[in-house]
Amino acid sequence: MEILISRTAFPVQALGPGTRAAIWLQGCSIRCAGCVAQDTWGTPASSRRQVDEVLDWLACLDEVDGVTISGGEPTDQPEALQALISGIRRTRPAADILVYTGRPTSWVLGDGRPSIAGADAVITEPFVRTEAGYLPLRGSDNQQLLALTPLGRSRYVDTALPDRRRIQVDVVDGEIRMIGIPTPGVLAELGRRAAAAGLSLRGTSWQD
Ligand code: SF4
Repeated sequence: MEILISRTAFPVQALGPGTRAAIWLQGCSIRCAGCVAQDTWGTPASSRRQVDEVLDWLACLDEVDGVTISGGEPTDQPEALQALISGIRRTRPAADILVYTGRPTSWVLGDGRPSIAGADAVITEPFVRTEAGYLPLRGSDNQQLLALTPLGRSRYVDTALPDRRRIQVDVVDGEIRMIGIPTPGVLAELGRRAAAAGLSLRGTSWQD
C-alpha cells in the first residue's frame, strides 16, 4: 500500500520512552499556526513510498523499544496509517506504538479510531501557540496523552515520563534535523545564538 513519508529516524530518544524508531508521515491538512514542522504539510510525489518499505527498514534495526508515528498528520492517510500500525505490530511485537495527531480527542476515540487501531498511546489535539508549554511529549497544554492498551498504560501512565523535554539533533545529507518537541522560546533563542555566531538559518521548517 502506498504511504506518503517525510522521513524516518533511528535511534530516537526524544519522542517517547526508550530507544525508538520514528516515522514522520508527509502531508497535513490541519496546519496549526506556529507548527514547527511545516515542511511536512505538502504532499509531493517524491514522498511516495510503500508501507512494506518502511516495515523492511524497521525490521533491520537493532533493539527498538517503541515506534513513534508523527507528521504531518498521520490520520490524513487513514488506510495507510492502519496498514503501517498493523505491520509494526507484526514486525515489532514488543515495541509500543505512539501516534501523534492534531485531531480532537472526541474524533480519535470515535470516527477516527479504526485508523489508529493497534496503537498503544496517542497524543491528540492541534498545537495551539498561545498554550505552548512544558508537558512531556506535548507542544501545547491543550494536547492530551491517551493510553489505549495495557502496554500504553505501563509505559506512558504508570511509569513517570521525563519532566524535561529533549531535543535530538541529527545531521543527514547536509541538513540539520531536530527531533523532539521544542519548549517555548527555544527556536527563537537558537536563531539569536546562530546570528550572534555569524550563522544564518536557512530553510527552517518553522516561521519566526
Ligand atoms: S502541529 Fe501537527 S497537526 Fe499541527 S500543523 Fe503541524 S504537523 Fe499538522
